[in-house]
Amino acid sequence: MIAVLGSANLDLVVTVERAPGRGETVTGRTFATLPGGKGANQALAAARAGGDVAFLGAVGDDDFGRRIRELLADAGVDVSGLAVSDQPTGTAHITVDGTGDNSIVVVPGANGTVTALTDAHRATIDRAELLLLQLELPLDLVVEAARYAHAREIPVVLTPAPAVPLPEELLEAVDILVPNEHEAALLAGIDDPIAAAEQLTRLCDDVVVTLGARGAAWLSGGETIPVPAFPVQAVDTTAAGDTFVGVMAAGLAGGLQLGGALHRASAAAALSVQRPGASSSMPDRAEIDAFLA
Ligand code: ATP
Repeated sequence: MIAVLGSANLDLVVTVERAPGRGETVTGRTFATLPGGKGANQALAAARAGGDVAFLGAVGDDDFGRRIRELLADAGVDVSGLAVSDQPTGTAHITVDGTGDNSIVVVPGANGTVTALTDAHRATIDRAELLLLQLELPLDLVVEAARYAHAREIPVVLTPAPAVPLPEELLEAVDILVPNEHEAALLAGIDDPIAAAEQLTRLCDDVVVTLGARGAAWLSGGETIPVPAFPVQAVDTTAAGDTFVGVMAAGLAGGLQLGGALHRASAAAALSVQRPGASSSMPDRAEIDAFLA
């Protein structure tokens, strides 16, 4: 089983011709609500790809929270560890202007109430083959969870997003670190993403730096192994990284070596970028198999 401890949000997306300035009101073009949060996205991607997944986190006692719970449960994710908080479900308020630039306000809400591991969290992690973490829950909790799993020899996968400087004690408890190029550069303090990833292998055994349409690079034991992207026409790359990590985890839990799991992850991400949306764009196992056949 794959345990995912992370955020669940509802993205509230408006498109406008021009974003409002201070004190200004503008008329929007469209409005959509999309389930998101890196934790929920990775859980969903792993479950769609055939993984047995348990999600640990919190939502509010509100319609947004019920919608996220239903979406995860419908995909087969065990949501018994998804707590109901007295805070509202986390939201991301996203304004996309006519040039495609966006501005985002994130309200962590219920996500911010997950501050320490509970007995129920520990019991789930104890049974897991892998623990997936990101940085959208309080950092102290992420550190605690990584160290807890690491001490029990349960492999820890960390997506270091949003990018913030991280304590060494966290990186030392991570087995597979999956930054994108910006996150790798920030964490290592080196602009070149491959050199940055190489530097990060001093703390984590395996570092997989994702490079968008250029694929990814897997650095391990002094070697750099390319993970080619599949050439496709991208229409929306939202959650490509989360799809990549979730499907990689499903592959590892299904018995693949990391190289094979990364090949499937790259295929799944290539499928997801050809469709709009985050959770709605994630492929299922049969689609990934067909794409690779
Ligand atoms: P996001 O924040 O949008 O989830 P990210 O920055 O975390 O994305 P990326 O490095 O952009 O992650 O992409 C993750 C993986 O998705 C890449 O390693 C690649 O395999 C795949 N991918 C991304 N963009 C494309 C593309 N245009 N064509 C094919 N594959 C892509």
